[in-house]
Amino acid sequence: MATIGFIGLGNMGGPMAANLIKAGHVVKGFDVSAEAGTAFESVGGTFAGSASAAAEGAEVVVTMLPAGTHVAAVYTDAGGLVDTAAPGSLLIDCSTIDVATARSVAATAQNRGLSMVDAPVSGGVTGAAAGTLTFMVGGTDEAFARAKPFLDIMGKTIVHAGAAGAGQAAKICNNMVLGISMIAVSEAFNLADALGLDRQKLFDISSTASGQCWSLTTYCPVPGPVPTSPANRDYAPGFTAAMMLKDLKLAAGAAQSVETATPMGEQAAALYQAFVDTGSSETDFSGIIRYLRGQGA
Ligand code: NAD
Repeated sequence: MATIGFIGLGNMGGPMAANLIKAGHVVKGFDVSAEAGTAFESVGGTFAGSASAAAEGAEVVVTMLPAGTHVAAVYTDAGGLVDTAAPGSLLIDCSTIDVATARSVAATAQNRGLSMVDAPVSGGVTGAAAGTLTFMVGGTDEAFARAKPFLDIMGKTIVHAGAAGAGQAAKICNNMVLGISMIAVSEAFNLADALGLDRQKLFDISSTASGQCWSLTTYCPVPGPVPTSPANRDYAPGFTAAMMLKDLKLAAGAAQSVETATPMGEQAAALYQAFVDTGSSETDFSGIIRYLRGQGA
């Protein structure tokens, strides 16, 4: 059994760390929130006084932090994990962050003789609790092979996407498709309503025709056709509009940095921004259908 440092014990990190403990590993954790620390101790973790104290003597360090600025600070600030992690240890960042920061932190770690992977997830808090997350992993073959047994405990599908940063690239490309397709499906249902077309009929036809996609068949934004979708519980998340906006902004920033046209992605980001600005940041992202409906003349 390994000793693991786990930094960032929030909605995702808390249950992920709990699954590592359940599998028999010794997990020392840190979070700037004392409340997160108390919850972590209640599942058998040892709460440390700082990120470097949590990483001390650990063979593996996992981070699950809000954004790129937090990841850069925790790893590469003076006295950060890259300075203090045990020689030869493996660093796994599961946060969703920009590709450029993921690559530069991994390069800094490598220069200090540490292996690092970026391993963002999909599956949300339900997947984190159930240990069924999908991990999209960027890093060397050797680092991926070392990380996989630990990711297997926290997830069900583990994909090696390529070199450092490729996990983040996969995550934002996928979520750009998701953000755009949810708007497309929402527009279609709003138009169907206005044209007097029954919602279930549209679902039955499109779900077996060329309009078929995950936003329609698994996460349908109107109540009824898919009973488990958030639309059936007044758009309680799920995956919040704020999270979708974050990922669409990461995609837009990445597209700009490599001079790639993503006009639909940009438009989706603008629409999610407008939706969030109505006070809907904590609404499920599929709730954008209500915002779009309200835009009619
Ligand atoms: P969260 O805000 O619940 O958790 C982040 C935790 O990091 C918080 O407890 C915070 O106190 C802690 N933190 C912040 N700065 C810190 C620091 N310097 N040192 C130690 N701890 C620090 O967020 P979350 O929902 O757990 O999301 C974490 C990451 O996972 C994000 O990058 C998010 O985009 C990604 N993600 C979230 C979901 C989801 O459904 N929540 C799904 C996929 C990916």
